[in-house]
Amino acid sequence: MIEQFYRPESVQQALELKRQFLDEAVYFGGGSKLNATPTKTGKKIAIALAQLGLNQVSWQQGELLLGATITLQALRDSPLIPQALHEALGFVYSRHIRNQATLGGEIAAAPKDSVLLPVLLALSANVVLGNGNTVTLEDYLADYPQELLLRVVLPDPYRRCATHKVARSAAGLAVLTAAVSCDAQSKVRIALSGVVARPSRLRDAEYNGLSGPALEKVVAEAVAPQADLCGSVAYKRYISGVVVADLLARCQASGGEQ
Ligand SMILES: Cc1cc2nc3c(=O)[nH]c(=O)nc-3n(C[C@H](O)[C@H](O)[C@H](O)COP(=O)(O)OP(=O)(O)OC[C@H]3O[C@@H](n4cnc5c(N)ncnc54)[C@H](O)[C@@H]3O)c2cc1C
Repeated sequence: MIEQFYRPESVQQALELKRQFLDEAVYFGGGSKLNATPTKTGKKIAIALAQLGLNQVSWQQGELLLGATITLQALRDSPLIPQALHEALGFVYSRHIRNQATLGGEIAAAPKDSVLLPVLLALSANVVLGNGNTVTLEDYLADYPQELLLRVVLPDPYRRCATHKVARSAAGLAVLTAAVSCDAQSKVRIALSGVVARPSRLRDAEYNGLSGPALEKVVAEAVAPQADLCGSVAYKRYISGVVVADLLARCQASGGEQ
């Protein structure tokens, strides 16, 4: 149970507290995971990030910057974000959770069935870390460095992008979430969660100009779903292929900026 709650007012102070307490302390975004059963933290010291002034959406040199402590609802309300990200934020079914959870918390927690990470991966997001480094979101998720996240950078936010969540109901467990984007050179990025070990790109399906049934087949073979109450392996493979092929068709049909 958290017994000491620090509220640093600068990134420097937050990093200093982490250096002081090391593994005994956790960064605290909205606390929706750290405070909830069964994901509740066992650590006693929390370093709250709410006072760091990282809750803005802004433009810098043609890139869209999303502060790590912005709540999912405030981000959804921003008129600057791309349509597919707006839609994906709505996949987090509860407004209470959206009001509490932060963008940085969602990325650092990296839930296996995250409904947000696929669209961020499809949009080629980078993340800026407390140590000053910028890395791709993909590398961050692969290395899982537990570094303080300061912001997400979308270098090409309005590329064509579409996303979809499959679930039995809005509040039901997600079978899968997929996102597909096409950049100005028609380079395709495909990302999924729920039917792969962790939210990730499906590189095998990106590079050969496939669409329609051919793409469905490659995607169905590339995912690695597990049977559970959301469905069988065969169903999940089938639906993954259909959803990705549909999203690519949507992207290609949209033609212009979104
Ligand atoms: C009832 C309920 C429903 C939920 N529904 C969904 C859902 O539909 N979809 C979904 O994807 N998730 C869902 N979640 C999971 C959870 O809300 C998300 O993982 C959430 O986005 C975490 O954000 P947070 O800011 O509250 O993180 P916190 O709980 O504050 O922290 C989560 C982790 O991230 C770390 N962290 C936080 N901010 C930073 C930062 N800036 N830099 C580095 N590390 C950081 C913390 O140390 C901790 O390890 C749900 C949770 C609950 C309790």
